[in-house]
Amino acid sequence: MTSTDRNLQLFERAKALIPGGVNSPVRAFRAVGGTPRFIQRAQGAYFWDANGQRYIDYIGSWGPMILGHGHPAVVEAVQKAVLEGFSFGAPTEREVELAETIINLVPSIDMVRLVSSGTEAGMSAIRLARGATGRKKIIKFEGCYHGHADALLVKAGSGLATFGNPTSAGVPPEVVQHTIVLEYNNIEQLEAAFVEHGPDVACLIIEPIAGNMNFVRASVPFMKRCRELCTQHGALLAFDEVMTGFRVALGGAQSVYAQLIPGFEPDMTVMGKVIGGGMPLAAFGAKRAVMEQLAPLGGVYQAGTLSGNPVATACGLATLKEISKPGFFEQLTATTQSLVSGLTSAAAAEGVPLCGDSQGGMFGFFLFEELPQNYAKVMTTDGPRFNTLFHGLLDRGVYIAPALYEAGFVSAAHTAQDIADTVSAARDVFRLLGK
Ligand code: PMP
Repeated sequence: MTSTDRNLQLFERAKALIPGGVNSPVRAFRAVGGTPRFIQRAQGAYFWDANGQRYIDYIGSWGPMILGHGHPAVVEAVQKAVLEGFSFGAPTEREVELAETIINLVPSIDMVRLVSSGTEAGMSAIRLARGATGRKKIIKFEGCYHGHADALLVKAGSGLATFGNPTSAGVPPEVVQHTIVLEYNNIEQLEAAFVEHGPDVACLIIEPIAGNMNFVRASVPFMKRCRELCTQHGALLAFDEVMTGFRVALGGAQSVYAQLIPGFEPDMTVMGKVIGGGMPLAAFGAKRAVMEQLAPLGGVYQAGTLSGNPVATACGLATLKEISKPGFFEQLTATTQSLVSGLTSAAAAEGVPLCGDSQGGMFGFFLFEELPQNYAKVMTTDGPRFNTLFHGLLDRGVYIAPALYEAGFVSAAHTAQDIADTVSAARDVFRLLGK
């Protein structure tokens, strides 16, 4: 008997044609099991799958859809741009406007270059950091994802200065031999790494609020030490704000840390997601002296056929305009906080240990009593319990990330009723979990 489940039918078709049936691994529901939902359309805070089932969307395309889906001003800007042309391979005024907008919102950036994905932005920023400093080594942290460029696909085994354990087949150890991986929020390891490798470190790259190990903040003392040690050793501090930029606050996570650490600024910023409003667009920026090392001015090569794409820049500009309106982030922050507090209270009422955190429109929650500080702790989450929670919510029309190590996203289109419906669905599932 053939199933009438259109998601299942599409998944079977897709699996024969596309590895795992998906074009990005986490979409395949491998960790949580079950059939991935094939999305047909989206509007506001919702999307609908191939069976016509509606979901409250808490992934928002993994961050970009901060206004919700199909915001009228964004749709209008994109429609207008499409009629003017898809791609020119020559500069446009809109690229200049987007560069101006980004630079105005992020004071640490003097110049910016536009690319098409966060991976490209991260990879290019690392090349630039190496070119600008003339050094080889980079420091990254376990649990931070910076895209899938070879040199960044490393997770430490554990311990200090573990070099070259590629986490993907196809990455020769030689390619990651200059990548040092340290534990997030571990000041001792950080200091020891700089003692050993300081003069060779081109840059330290970090997700300031990590969204690829659920939601884990860099502690203020840790971030302060990152800044001090980079300055002391002449390494560039690179913030990967692909997820946090224009999402946790209008000025990104760096504006949050600048309020906690007087005078704080990173040297480089990697951006993506929200700046494209759902179209393929990302960027990296830094001070003028560093950015001027890029081709065609300097010797660090970097290029892209679709870079600064006219439709993507129209989408990004319209999105940034909306989120710059007074009160936007206050409202988004309040909605997100109400979700997290609603979930924690509902869990407590059913005797389920759960804690959560949020900043702006990004959140995480854990099946723990206390917020974890690093990747190793996040990964001690009880997987089967998370999967029960995930599927329980999905069955009730709430779509959260299908993996316990991913952050969640709230949009401006989420209403108080959506939050209440989500909390009520979660309470039903917590009741099952609490038994
Ligand atoms: N950096 C961070 C912090 C990310 O979250 C991501 C994607 N989730 C990337 C880089 C890579 O971006 P992209 O998927 O656009 O290549």
